[in-house]
Amino acid sequence: MVTTRGEKLYEGKAKILYATEDPHQVIQYFKDDATAFNAQKRGTIIGKGVCNNRIASRLFEWLAQRGVPTHFIKQLSDREMLVKRLEIIPLEVTMRNLTAGGMSRMLGIEEGIVLNPPVFEWHYKSDPLGDPLINDDHILALKLATPEELQTIRALSARVNDELKAYFAARGIDLVDFKLEFGRHRGTILLGDEISPDTCRFWEQGTKKKLDKDRFRRDLGDVEAAYQEMLTRVLGEGV
Ligand code: 5GP
Repeated sequence: MVTTRGEKLYEGKAKILYATEDPHQVIQYFKDDATAFNAQKRGTIIGKGVCNNRIASRLFEWLAQRGVPTHFIKQLSDREMLVKRLEIIPLEVTMRNLTAGGMSRMLGIEEGIVLNPPVFEWHYKSDPLGDPLINDDHILALKLATPEELQTIRALSARVNDELKAYFAARGIDLVDFKLEFGRHRGTILLGDEISPDTCRFWEQGTKKKLDKDRFRRDLGDVEAAYQEMLTRVLGEGV
């Protein structure tokens, strides 16, 4: 069956969701728009949407082959992927293997310290509040998810970290940290959203060169080249 774009369901900062003929499937369209610091900084990263769609498609396929259930169905075009429709749980999971960004700021510690075991964080997904850090008790009190769902999401996030850390290490990249989102689809929890240089920190092994959205956030230059470099690494065979 040919999938065609229906009505626009939602437009976010980096992606647009469109309906399809199937009520259980939607199209994720990847834009070149970039925002940072809760949308106070805005810009365009030429070709970002194409890179992120191709990177996320490859990583979702990889994870599915390793038993992680995701919303990904297939890549439709350069900027579009077909995904299962999710009821998004308003939580963001952050997994950290090295200190950086928000954790370094919050605790006043330098970036690049190895975290073993990795650090798992829940954030409440809220633009007006700036995605604040919360704990299991907050989530249960606000009835954002059930205890079973929290357990499933924690276990899946740990699996994703193990798989992605190995995937990127084989391609000369340290996976510093990343953000995941999950949703409900016909009674099961699936990994949603995207996995890309917008949602992960990638440092080149050896040089520690940043190959992710921090180049945009921190005005480091060579932003487009970093996304292209990560696409090449992700599609490469690894060693
Ligand atoms: P931090 O909490 O240090 O700012 O972010 C940790 C990791 O999660 C980084 O890889 C960052 O890119 C990702 N992340 C956290 N929150 C968001 C968000 O709201 N949007 C995006 N695109 N990534 C996020």
